[in-house]
Amino acid sequence: MLEKIILQENIDAVKRIVDAGTRFVVLSHKNPDGDAVGSSLALCHYLRSLGKECFVVLPNRFPDFLAWMPDATEVLFYDAEPEKAMSLFNGADAFFCLDFNTLSRIGDAGAAVAACSAPKLLVDHHPQPSQEFSVSISHPVACSTSELVFRLIVRLSGANAVSFEMAQCIYAGMMTDTGAFAYASTRKDIYLIIAELLGKGIDKDLIYRKVFYTSSLTRMRLWGFTLYEKLKLYNKYNAALITLSHNELMRFYAQKGDTEGIVNQPLQIKGIRFSCFFREELPGKINVSLRSVDDFPCNAVAAEFFNGGGHKNASGGELCCSMDEAVELFRAALRKYKCELTQ
Ligand code: 5GP
Ligand code: MN
Repeated sequence: MLEKIILQENIDAVKRIVDAGTRFVVLSHKNPDGDAVGSSLALCHYLRSLGKECFVVLPNRFPDFLAWMPDATEVLFYDAEPEKAMSLFNGADAFFCLDFNTLSRIGDAGAAVAACSAPKLLVDHHPQPSQEFSVSISHPVACSTSELVFRLIVRLSGANAVSFEMAQCIYAGMMTDTGAFAYASTRKDIYLIIAELLGKGIDKDLIYRKVFYTSSLTRMRLWGFTLYEKLKLYNKYNAALITLSHNELMRFYAQKGDTEGIVNQPLQIKGIRFSCFFREELPGKINVSLRSVDDFPCNAVAAEFFNGGGHKNASGGELCCSMDEAVELFRAALRKYKCELTQ
């Protein structure tokens, strides 16, 4: 028996909005990951199973290793088709906001959605949700938003309502947000949910391979180069830094998603508790990924130094500066957090 973590009043509020509406838009965050895509598609499948019209709109494209998910090809990308997205927004009876805690996380689409009067329902596991949402199902204890979508569907319609397609998407989201159940995944409920999903006929080993075993040779070479040449340890701080410049990414023909997971690698080194990865997407524009173990709050570092946020052990941000300046900021963060990193 699963613990009931979503408040009944929130379940009732979602039910009222779903019953009353006919067209829904599901949104998730910029640079969508497995949980963003998995939770969005699972909820979209559910709403369609109720006879509703539903569209998933994401700020930009997701990596190819997520394209196998049922109906992933129908997702609309705001950066590619803003007018089409706007017409969906204007016709929506409600928005489901999944896997982000403030509308600013969905880029330019955020202002457009904020301007719409239709209710905005949040389903998310990041701390500190903003007050922009009509209904807020926010549970940082959950391993993923996909876990919360599973819980929501079951509370609204019972476990029989979860289809094979929904189960595949939910499992993929739970798996990717926990590094295949290596972190943020010690709660018993997670495995009770997995048992339910297996009961729907999913092949968890196949999903693992579809997500993690789809590398190209150029990605392998990029990883080899990065770990050999671009990983630097700051042993005094139990920390590690990886940098990849725009030129280096081009040299290895890096595709979207090719560097996903690389920030976790330094945590395999004994004693390393904090890992940072700077990826220069465009000259002067640096994407920041942070990971930590135990109690070290990398989301606090992301907020204070890198214009970002996220979870305690997995967070990110963005910088508009040179790589040298970014490295300087990282060093300043280490100095500031030395006590926490070395205790
Ligand atoms: P990743 O390193 O995989 O890109 O991001 C890890 C986590 O950090 C995401 O799931 C998200 O919670 C958070 N995150 C990444 N980038 C940003 C950002 O720019 N702003 C905020 N607030 N959170 C971010
Ligand atoms: Mn997530």
